[in-house]
Formats: sequence, C-alpha cells, structure tokens
Amino acid sequence: MVQGIDFQGFSGAHDRLIAEYRSGRASHALLLCGSTGRMKDAFAGYLANLLLCRAAEAERPCGSCPSCLRFRAGKHGNLMRLGLTQGSKTIRIEQLRSLLSALSLHPLESGPRVILITDLQAMTVQAQNALLKSLEEPLEQDHYLLTCENERAVLPTIVSRCSFVRLPDADDEKAAVLLKQFAFEIAKSPQHSDFTLGPEGSNAMKEARSLAERSFFQVKRFSDIPAASFLLKDAKDAGDLLLDILEQETRQALEANQLGQADSTKASPWQGASALALAHVLESIFEARKYKASNVSWQSVADRLLFSITKEIFQCQWS
Ligand SMILES: [Zn+2]
Repeated sequence: MVQGIDFQGFSGAHDRLIAEYRSGRASHALLLCGSTGRMKDAFAGYLANLLLCRAAEAERPCGSCPSCLRFRAGKHGNLMRLGLTQGSKTIRIEQLRSLLSALSLHPLESGPRVILITDLQAMTVQAQNALLKSLEEPLEQDHYLLTCENERAVLPTIVSRCSFVRLPDADDEKAAVLLKQFAFEIAKSPQHSDFTLGPEGSNAMKEARSLAERSFFQVKRFSDIPAASFLLKDAKDAGDLLLDILEQETRQALEANQLGQADSTKASPWQGASALALAHVLESIFEARKYKASNVSWQSVADRLLFSITKEIFQCQWS
C-alpha cells in the first residue's frame, strides 16, 4: 500500500471483513457498530476503498490507481456519502431523499457503487424507513456501508437486512496513531447533502461561481469558446473549485432531467440537455481532474471542457 493506513491485524473482525471486501465477496449491506469515535467510519471508508480500487486483488487498496486517487480526493463518482454534518444532530429525510434520487441515476462509473452512511443512530425514523426500502432491493453493483454507535437506535428491520458486525474497541493510542496516518480524512470528503453552495459560500467560491457563469455556462457555439477560454486562462488556482462547480451543476441538471423536474426558480444553464449529454460532460469533468492532476496545462484542460460542453449540451458539430 502506497498511502493510507492498513487496518490489517487490528482485530479478527477487521481481518475477516478486509478479506471479504478485497475479494469482492462482500455482502450488499454491512452495518458496523462501535463506540470508538471516528475509527469505525474510517474503517468503513477503508472497506469502500477496497471495493472501488481497480488494482489486482492482492494489492487492494493500491492508493495509486485512478479509482483510488479519485476516492482519496473525495471525488469518486461511484461513492455516495451521508452522515452528520457539522453542528447538526440528526440526519433528516430530505438528506436521504437527495441521496436516493442520486442513486436512481445510472452509476457514473463502471464497477461497484458504494453508499457510505455514517452516524445511523442519528437518522430520523422517517429517514430510516426510506433507507430500508432501498436496502430491501439493492442493485447488483450497490454496496451499503453503514455505521452506528448504538444499534438500538437503528430500526430492527434495518439491522436484520444487514450483516451486522460489532467492532472491538481500539485502545485510544493505537486509534490515534492510525487516524493520523490516514491519508484521506473522512470528514473532509464532500457529503452529498453539502452540495448546495448558497450565498453563505466563501469569497473564493463566489468568485469562482461568477467566473464559471461568464465562461463555462456561457458557451453555446464553438465561436463562443475563444472569449470564454480567455477569461479562464489565469484561473488555474481556482481550477479545482471551478471543476467542483461544474460537477455540481451537471449533477443537478441530471437529477432534474431524471425526475422530470424543471426548477423554474433556479433555471439551470443546461436545462433541457439530454441525460446522455450530461453524462458525457460529467465524464469530461472527471477527465479534466485527471489531466489537471497530471500537470497538463490548465488552459488546455479548460479548453477541452469548453469544447465538450458545446459539443454535448448544445449539439454543435464541426461541419
Ligand atoms: Zn487502487
């Protein structure tokens, strides 16, 4: 393993689960129970990584395949996360609905899709009931990884749908060392329900949003590209933010498309685009992250995206 911590040898329960998830023999739904702070969540994240890694079985999680890199950046298209957000005490039905509507879309990438839900004890009964429905008929590629501090706060019907594992308490020192080594911080990866960027967003975010509106969301024809490209040329530092904004917009347009809802109060610049076109744009955004990470010039990363948007969303052809 290149980076990240190795939970191997932590306990018999850990080892057994690691073997199952590494070899793809994992059950469709696992409920991990434990009292040791974020440790069980970190372990659930590790199991998710085992499922998503594309390296040979013995090397999982390799930490270096494209899938691992996106996972560790908190940007894997087939990982959906839900948990308590800072300052909140419950996971509400609206949050779960937004997760479920994303789940109803086709997976963004081939291979397994992982639904990681932490703090299940804090989920309202109403939300747990909604979750139960999707646990009853999981899709072939879907794996649910759930964690809770206390299974008595979880509906018995949910517990019975899952393979239930109580993790032994780790001694605090060992847990602290392991968590410190953890290359990706589970709390940092974006929560599905955190995708809304309201006016409370930071200045950098507001500036990036405004730039995106004048460039990526402005192009409709190939002849629009040079002006947009010029605006973007010095925005390399805001590149990650811009890509996040693009991803968010594309996902929202996809969700609206799938649900047949056109939200008239907040018209998407890409309203009316087909799901296929939006999926292609989403792929281009993931590619753009890869190019950017491998030091392809920002200008050409941005240009490729501008071309992809005009070609896919507005059906522009060269001829
Ligand atoms: Zn990997």
